[in-house]
Amino acid sequence: MDSQVHISSHPLLKHKITLLRDQRTDPKKFRELLREISVLLVYEATTDLAVEPSLVTTPLGQAEGYRLRERVGLVPILRAGLGMVEGIWNLMPNAEVWHIGLLRDERTLEPVEYYNRLPIRPTVDVCLILDPMLATGGSAVTAVNILKRWGAARIKFVGVLAAPEGIARLTTAHLDVPIYLAAVDESLNDMGYIVPGLGDAGDRLFGTG
Ligand code: URA
Repeated sequence: MDSQVHISSHPLLKHKITLLRDQRTDPKKFRELLREISVLLVYEATTDLAVEPSLVTTPLGQAEGYRLRERVGLVPILRAGLGMVEGIWNLMPNAEVWHIGLLRDERTLEPVEYYNRLPIRPTVDVCLILDPMLATGGSAVTAVNILKRWGAARIKFVGVLAAPEGIARLTTAHLDVPIYLAAVDESLNDMGYIVPGLGDAGDRLFGTG
Protein backbone atom coordinates (compact mmCIF):
# COMPACT_ATOMS: atom_id res chain seq x y z
CA MET A 1 0.00 0.00 0.00
CA ASP A 2 1.11 3.58 -0.65
CA SER A 3 3.60 4.83 1.94
CA GLN A 4 1.41 7.87 2.60
CA VAL A 5 -1.27 5.52 3.96
CA HIS A 6 -0.68 4.65 7.61
CA ILE A 7 -2.75 1.83 9.06
CA SER A 8 -2.09 1.62 12.76
CA SER A 9 -1.13 -1.73 14.20
CA HIS A 10 -1.48 -0.52 17.79
CA PRO A 11 -3.11 -3.23 19.95
CA LEU A 12 -5.20 -0.67 21.86
CA LEU A 13 -6.66 0.55 18.57
CA LYS A 14 -7.42 -2.98 17.41
CA HIS A 15 -9.23 -3.68 20.67
CA LYS A 16 -11.19 -0.44 20.69
CA ILE A 17 -12.17 -0.65 17.02
CA THR A 18 -13.70 -4.04 17.66
CA LEU A 19 -15.85 -2.57 20.43
CA LEU A 20 -16.74 0.41 18.22
CA ARG A 21 -17.96 -1.87 15.43
CA ASP A 22 -20.11 -4.00 17.75
CA GLN A 23 -23.80 -3.38 17.06
CA ARG A 24 -24.50 -3.71 20.81
CA THR A 25 -22.32 -0.66 21.60
CA ASP A 26 -24.66 2.15 22.66
CA PRO A 27 -24.18 5.83 21.68
CA LYS A 28 -22.56 6.80 25.01
CA LYS A 29 -19.95 4.06 24.73
CA PHE A 30 -19.58 4.75 21.00
CA ARG A 31 -18.73 8.39 21.73
CA GLU A 32 -16.18 7.39 24.40
CA LEU A 33 -14.53 4.89 22.09
CA LEU A 34 -14.41 7.27 19.13
CA ARG A 35 -12.86 9.93 21.38
CA GLU A 36 -10.17 7.52 22.60
CA ILE A 37 -9.48 6.10 19.15
CA SER A 38 -9.09 9.60 17.72
CA VAL A 39 -6.46 10.48 20.32
CA LEU A 40 -4.47 7.33 19.53
CA LEU A 41 -4.66 8.05 15.80
CA VAL A 42 -3.63 11.67 16.17
CA TYR A 43 -0.69 10.66 18.32
CA GLU A 44 0.56 8.78 15.25
CA ALA A 45 -0.47 11.50 12.80
CA THR A 46 1.49 14.24 14.57
CA THR A 47 4.91 12.64 14.97
CA ASP A 48 6.37 15.07 12.40
CA LEU A 49 5.03 18.35 13.81
CA ALA A 50 7.82 20.91 14.00
CA VAL A 51 9.06 22.04 17.40
CA GLU A 52 11.42 24.79 18.46
CA PRO A 53 13.77 24.89 21.45
CA SER A 54 12.33 26.45 24.61
CA LEU A 55 14.20 26.74 27.91
CA VAL A 56 12.11 25.83 30.93
CA THR A 57 12.81 26.55 34.58
CA THR A 58 12.16 23.59 36.84
CA PRO A 59 12.19 23.73 40.67
CA LEU A 60 15.83 22.56 40.43
CA GLY A 61 17.26 24.47 37.50
CA GLN A 62 16.89 24.96 33.79
CA ALA A 63 16.08 22.31 31.21
CA GLU A 64 16.21 22.44 27.45
CA GLY A 65 12.66 21.90 26.29
CA TYR A 66 10.57 22.37 23.18
CA ARG A 67 7.37 24.02 22.12
CA LEU A 68 5.23 23.25 19.10
CA ARG A 69 6.11 25.59 16.26
CA GLU A 70 3.25 24.77 13.94
CA ARG A 71 -0.31 25.96 14.38
CA VAL A 72 -2.72 23.08 14.02
CA GLY A 73 -6.25 23.26 12.64
CA LEU A 74 -8.76 20.48 13.28
CA VAL A 75 -11.23 20.22 10.42
CA PRO A 76 -14.08 17.87 11.31
CA ILE A 77 -16.38 16.96 8.45
CA LEU A 78 -19.95 17.26 9.75
CA ARG A 79 -21.42 15.44 11.28
CA ALA A 80 -19.51 12.29 12.27
CA GLY A 81 -16.17 14.15 12.37
CA LEU A 82 -17.46 16.03 15.42
CA GLY A 83 -17.03 12.86 17.47
CA MET A 84 -13.28 13.01 16.87
CA VAL A 85 -12.73 16.62 17.98
CA GLU A 86 -12.99 16.60 21.77
CA GLY A 87 -10.26 14.08 22.60
CA ILE A 88 -7.81 15.60 20.12
CA TRP A 89 -8.60 19.09 21.35
CA ASN A 90 -7.77 18.03 24.92
CA LEU A 91 -4.40 16.90 23.62
CA MET A 92 -3.83 20.12 21.63
CA PRO A 93 -5.91 22.81 23.36
CA ASN A 94 -4.50 25.58 21.16
CA ALA A 95 -5.71 23.96 17.94
CA GLU A 96 -8.28 25.90 15.95
CA VAL A 97 -11.40 24.02 14.87
CA TRP A 98 -12.87 24.75 11.44
CA HIS A 99 -16.01 22.87 10.46
CA ILE A 100 -16.87 21.74 6.97
CA GLY A 101 -20.37 20.47 6.27
CA LEU A 102 -20.71 17.94 3.45
CA LEU A 103 -23.91 16.07 2.70
CA ARG A 104 -23.95 12.97 0.60
CA ASP A 105 -26.38 13.19 -2.31
CA GLU A 106 -28.20 9.89 -1.84
CA ARG A 107 -28.66 9.44 -5.59
CA THR A 108 -25.17 10.18 -6.88
CA LEU A 109 -23.37 9.45 -3.55
CA GLU A 110 -21.32 12.62 -4.31
CA PRO A 111 -20.71 15.23 -1.57
CA VAL A 112 -22.54 18.55 -1.53
CA GLU A 113 -21.00 21.38 0.53
CA TYR A 114 -23.51 23.02 2.90
CA TYR A 115 -21.32 24.62 5.57
CA ASN A 116 -17.93 26.31 5.43
CA ARG A 117 -16.94 29.34 7.50
CA LEU A 118 -13.20 29.27 6.86
CA PRO A 119 -11.65 32.75 7.16
CA ILE A 120 -10.28 34.39 4.01
CA ARG A 121 -6.67 33.44 4.67
CA PRO A 122 -5.25 30.31 6.34
CA THR A 123 -4.62 30.78 10.06
CA VAL A 124 -2.91 27.42 10.65
CA ASP A 125 0.10 25.55 9.30
CA VAL A 126 -1.22 21.99 9.45
CA CYS A 127 -4.83 20.90 8.89
CA LEU A 128 -6.05 17.58 10.23
CA ILE A 129 -9.23 16.57 8.42
CA LEU A 130 -11.33 14.45 10.75
CA ASP A 131 -13.88 11.97 9.42
CA PRO A 132 -14.24 8.50 10.93
CA MET A 133 -15.37 6.87 7.66
CA LEU A 134 -13.32 7.06 4.45
CA ALA A 135 -15.93 5.33 2.30
CA THR A 136 -16.21 6.45 -1.33
CA GLY A 137 -13.57 9.12 -0.68
CA GLY A 138 -15.81 11.82 -2.18
CA SER A 139 -16.08 13.88 1.01
CA ALA A 140 -12.39 13.56 1.78
CA VAL A 141 -11.38 14.71 -1.72
CA THR A 142 -13.84 17.63 -1.54
CA ALA A 143 -12.56 18.65 1.90
CA VAL A 144 -8.95 18.61 0.67
CA ASN A 145 -9.97 20.63 -2.41
CA ILE A 146 -11.60 23.23 -0.14
CA LEU A 147 -8.55 23.45 2.14
CA LYS A 148 -6.11 23.65 -0.78
CA ARG A 149 -8.17 26.44 -2.37
CA TRP A 150 -8.04 28.17 1.02
CA GLY A 151 -4.24 27.96 0.86
CA ALA A 152 -3.57 25.32 3.53
CA ALA A 153 0.12 24.43 3.44
CA ARG A 154 -0.01 20.97 4.95
CA ILE A 155 -3.03 18.67 5.10
CA LYS A 156 -3.46 15.25 6.68
CA PHE A 157 -6.52 13.02 6.73
CA VAL A 158 -7.35 11.23 9.98
CA GLY A 159 -10.06 8.58 9.73
CA VAL A 160 -10.95 5.41 11.57
CA LEU A 161 -12.24 2.88 9.04
CA ALA A 162 -11.72 2.96 5.28
CA ALA A 163 -12.78 1.07 2.20
CA PRO A 164 -10.07 0.41 -0.40
CA GLU A 165 -12.12 2.50 -2.87
CA GLY A 166 -11.91 5.56 -0.58
CA ILE A 167 -8.18 5.25 -0.09
CA ALA A 168 -7.65 4.87 -3.84
CA ARG A 169 -9.78 7.92 -4.64
CA LEU A 170 -8.10 10.15 -2.07
CA THR A 171 -4.55 9.11 -2.95
CA THR A 172 -5.25 9.46 -6.67
CA ALA A 173 -6.62 12.98 -6.23
CA HIS A 174 -4.17 14.13 -3.54
CA LEU A 175 -1.01 12.08 -3.35
CA ASP A 176 0.53 14.66 -1.01
CA VAL A 177 -2.05 14.10 1.75
CA PRO A 178 -1.05 11.42 4.26
CA ILE A 179 -3.87 9.22 5.53
CA TYR A 180 -4.04 7.82 9.07
CA LEU A 181 -6.45 4.98 9.80
CA ALA A 182 -7.18 2.28 12.32
CA ALA A 183 -8.36 -0.36 9.82
CA VAL A 184 -9.20 -1.00 6.17
CA ASP A 185 -12.30 -3.08 5.44
CA GLU A 186 -13.27 -5.28 2.52
CA SER A 187 -15.49 -3.13 0.35
CA LEU A 188 -18.34 -0.68 -0.09
CA ASN A 189 -21.94 -1.76 -0.55
CA ASP A 190 -24.16 -0.18 -3.20
CA MET A 191 -25.35 2.42 -0.67
CA GLY A 192 -21.74 3.58 -0.21
CA TYR A 193 -21.41 2.01 3.26
CA ILE A 194 -18.21 0.34 4.38
CA VAL A 195 -18.64 -3.43 4.82
CA PRO A 196 -18.44 -4.81 7.45
CA GLY A 197 -17.73 -1.32 8.85
CA LEU A 198 -19.77 -0.09 11.77
CA GLY A 199 -22.92 1.25 10.14
CA ASP A 200 -23.71 4.97 10.01
CA ALA A 201 -21.13 6.65 12.22
CA GLY A 202 -23.21 9.84 12.63
CA ASP A 203 -26.31 7.93 13.69
CA ARG A 204 -24.37 5.77 16.13
CA LEU A 205 -22.64 8.82 17.60
CA PHE A 206 -25.74 10.96 17.99
CA GLY A 207 -28.25 8.17 18.71
CA THR A 208 -30.30 8.96 15.62
CA GLY A 209 -30.27 5.56 13.92
N1 URA B 1 -20.49 6.89 6.40
C1 URA B 1 -20.81 6.12 7.47
O1 URA B 1 -21.24 6.63 8.50
N2 URA B 1 -20.67 4.79 7.37
C2 URA B 1 -20.21 4.19 6.27
O2 URA B 1 -20.07 2.98 6.26
C3 URA B 1 -19.87 5.01 5.17
C4 URA B 1 -20.02 6.35 5.25
